[in-house]
Amino acid sequence: MKTMPPLPGPDRLTQDAGPYGIAGTSRPLKKYAEQLARIESALARMEAGNYGLCTNCESRIALTRLKADPAIATCADCKEPENLTV
Ligand SMILES: [Zn+2]
Repeated sequence: MKTMPPLPGPDRLTQDAGPYGIAGTSRPLKKYAEQLARIESALARMEAGNYGLCTNCESRIALTRLKADPAIATCADCKEPENLTV
């Protein structure tokens, strides 16, 4: 009879969490949650039919910006302060 390979349990998760730990500063997770929120709001804008329009000034967001970040919510003039790439 074969023995089951050890499953990645809580011990492994704790190791992978690195210096931050699980309950500690969850910066990577927070970043993830923010990204998810942006994507969800982009999907909501798609449903509302105003995807690709700046949420601030309602002008059309440049295609290059949308390609670089499909969840982007603002045009180049109303750049989100944390958005460093475009
Ligand atoms: Zn704008």
